[in-house]
Order: sequence, then structure tokens, then C-alpha cells
Amino acid sequence: MIFTSASADDHFHDHCGVFGVFGHPEAANLAYLGLYALQHRGQESAGIVSSDGTELHLHRAMGEVEEIFQQPGVLAKLPGSLAIGHTRYSTAGDKALLNAQPIMIDCNKGKVALGHNGNLTNAAEWRRKLEHRGSIFQTNSDTEVIVHLLARSAARNLSGALGDALNQVEGAYSLLVLTQDELYAVRDPRGFRPLVLGKLATPAGFAAWLVASETCAFDLLNAHYVREVAPGEMLRISKSGIESIRFAPEKQHQQCIFEHVYFSRPDSIIFGRSVNESRETLGRLLAREHPVEADIVVPVPDSGVPAAVGYALESKIPFRMGLIRNHYIGRTFIEPSQAIRNFGVKLKLNPVRGLIEGQRVILVDDSIVRGTTSRKIVRMVREAGAKEVHVRISCPPTISPCYYGVDTPTREELIASFNTPEEICKFLGADSLGYVSLPALKQAVADTEGRFCTSCYTGVYPTDLVQLEVREPASNGKLEAPSVTIENERVAAERPVAVERES
Ligand code: SF4
Repeated sequence: MIFTSASADDHFHDHCGVFGVFGHPEAANLAYLGLYALQHRGQESAGIVSSDGTELHLHRAMGEVEEIFQQPGVLAKLPGSLAIGHTRYSTAGDKALLNAQPIMIDCNKGKVALGHNGNLTNAAEWRRKLEHRGSIFQTNSDTEVIVHLLARSAARNLSGALGDALNQVEGAYSLLVLTQDELYAVRDPRGFRPLVLGKLATPAGFAAWLVASETCAFDLLNAHYVREVAPGEMLRISKSGIESIRFAPEKQHQQCIFEHVYFSRPDSIIFGRSVNESRETLGRLLAREHPVEADIVVPVPDSGVPAAVGYALESKIPFRMGLIRNHYIGRTFIEPSQAIRNFGVKLKLNPVRGLIEGQRVILVDDSIVRGTTSRKIVRMVREAGAKEVHVRISCPPTISPCYYGVDTPTREELIASFNTPEEICKFLGADSLGYVSLPALKQAVADTEGRFCTSCYTGVYPTDLVQLEVREPASNGKLEAPSVTIENERVAAERPVAVERES
């Protein structure tokens, strides 16, 4: 049996990270390091395309960034001062190298490479139309729709053709496009996924431009964070400098709030705000909304740590690393025999009995997806001798899938979709359960103008052409709960009714 780390942690997974370099003699090396810092955004495949001013050079493979680019001679085959890199997460049935990025094409607009973070919500519809008109698709990635639309554009220059193509697609894209002598960085008008601009001094004393999904990639290179690429902005970076092109009409921003809850690294600045600050604030607000008498606050590492710190600071209950994470579990783990099955969460986490035994524990995590992993963790903490286990979650119940570049299970698999917090608490075997409310989540990211997407918590989507499932209470979604004494807490999740619809 192959046990994937994806299934082990029962978290949402971001699809991709992107990194671009313009004007540095070691562009591919920088792209490699940038992707290394963005590895958390995708572990299934990675690729880099470089340009030496005449030719584009591509290397992509399945695996993690280090194992792909540490192979002898690989980076040496990627010469030039321009490069884009991409690291990708894909779902189990969709691991083909064919879908790895960047995608490279030679079309009527010249040689072009693309790396895309996000998901197009009308890609299937466009694919059908384009195939009807004779386009032949090489992959099943939605990014290829952009490639075909780009090739079909009548615009004379690439920025015009890109604008044409992108104005026909809907959904989320933070996109890097490389030509022989230009780098484009584009963010969709709603700005679902992050994209940031940075600067790095070259050995010759000039400034090289960098673009990345997250600022943590700049920190690794000692680069300077300049600003975000704005939603609806296309940056054209060439020898003449940087040109900012507004390629699409202004739309209400829908920045992914879950980047602040879980995806992005806490040392990144995302959407102009420190992720760590948001997470600690979430923990503080969680403590205010769901206080409980207890002895220690224990995070589910690593992603639950900042919120647990915030909870502990606010509640004045001691913070303890009562669960230790094994960082060395690979992408896949082959269970040795039938006799020792279902290591499950034990592969990743181990309790510190000396800290937990006899204690009333507040267990802080960032989210519950299916609930199966959380249930195992609660059981593990009880088995380590906890007197009580109170689960606190630093986001609202996740009731709906994401269509904007995040791999989520179906609605039926999301435990909060068909179960109340009381039912979930029983399923987990916890003494109490508390989720932070949606207003508190918005407060934690300082969202006073409705700039964030919260669709996975509301089931209300900001784009057309999404095949929304009907949300109905379904008996088959109910859980069989073990019999435990609980003290349930009601979630104060906001349920907005307004849907922003734009053509
Ligand atoms: Fe982010 Fe959720 Fe919106 Fe997807 S649906 S973009 S995960 S907030």
C-alpha cells in the first residue's frame, strides 16, 4: 500500500508555486532556489525554462525540486539570464509528466513558456470550443487553453495576445510567461492567488527582477520585496525596464483567504500582510470566541503553531509542543506489511507524553477537511494520557470545494458540509470543538473592504460558469459517531447571501 503524504495530512493542497527571473546571469540557479522555497505549494513535479536570448531551454520532471535539479548537469543545461520555474501539486489520478509545467510552445507569437498558479473555471467549455475549431490539446491542464487562445489571437504583439486570451477565460491565474527576451507576470482581475515582485543586485551591480508566488522565496535569495503584482495587472519586464499594463476591467478583488489560514508560509507577506500576524491574530480571536478552562495549549504542527501561540497568549494558558512532527516523511511511504497497517497519522506526529499526561489539552489546528486525521490526533492525545481534549480550529467550517486553484475533496467528503459542529465534535471524540467565525477570520486578515474570497466557507462563488453542487442535507453524509460525553459549541459562521456576478 502506498501511503501518500497528501492523504496523511488531510489538508487542502495548493496546486502550484511560480518563480521568475529577469536579468541575472544565474537565472536558472535562482529559479531553482526560488522553487525550493516554494516547495510547500506543490510537491509532485517541477520545471524550469530558461532563455539565453535566442533559445528557450526546458527541464521538468516528476518529484520534488531538490531531487529534480540536484541531478548532475541539469542546471548547467539551462543557460541564460531569464528563467521561469513552476512547482506543481496534482491529484492522484493526474500525475502525468505531460501536465508538469512550465508549458513551452513555438507558435505564431514566437517561442513562449508559461507557468500558471490557479484554476480556470471555464476551461472545459473553452477546450470543447477550441477542439471543435481544430485545436489539438497535448495535456489535460487548463493552462493549455490559455496557450491555444494566445496562438489564435490576432493581436500583433505578445502583451496584446495575452490580454486577448486572458479576457476570455474566467477564474484564477497568477501567470508567468517567458519569451526569448521578455518576462511577463500577470494576475487575474480578482487576484485569487498571490504574486509578488522583487529585486536582486547582480554581480555586475545591476538590478535583476524577480517574481514569485510568495515573498519567502525572496528572503532565501536576500532579494528585496518591491510590491504585489496588482489584480488585473500585467507586468512586461524587458531590457527597457518594467511596464505595467492593465489588461482587464477592474473587478471586485477575491484574494484567497485560505492563503493566510494555511497555504502560504508564515514567514511570507501575502496580499500585503504578514501571514504569521494573521495566524496569531486568528488564535487570539479563537481564544476570545471559544474560551475553555484547560492546562495547556498544544498546536497540531507545523501549520497550527502560529494560531496556537495566539490562543495561548490571549488565554494566558501555557503553550506546549505536545505533538512532535516527523519532518522526514517523504511524498510517499510504502507500508512494510499487512501486519503493521495504518500507521496513519503516527508517521507524522508523536505525542510528548510527559507534557500531555493528566492535562486538560486545547488542541489548535488550522482546519478540518474530512475529519479523519483530526479524529486520529484526538485519539492519540487521549492515549497519551490527556484528561480532556478541546479542539479549536482557526478557520470557519469548510463546507464547499474550491474552484480557484486549490485541490479540495468533493463537497460530500467535506465533513462540515453535511454535519453540524456538534456532530463533528462527536465524530472527533473531543470534549469540545470551536471554529473561529467568518467575521473573526476577516478581522484577522484586516479585510474591511471585502477583498478576500471566502467561498469554501460560504458556498457562495464570485464567478459565473462554476458547476455548483446543490447543498442539501444528505443522510449519506452523516457520520457514525462514537459515544462520548461532549460539550458542543455552536459556530458563529456568517452566511452571506449576496453573490457578485460579472460577465
Ligand atoms: Fe481560497 Fe477557499 Fe476561495 Fe479557494 S474557495 S480561493 S481556498 S478562499
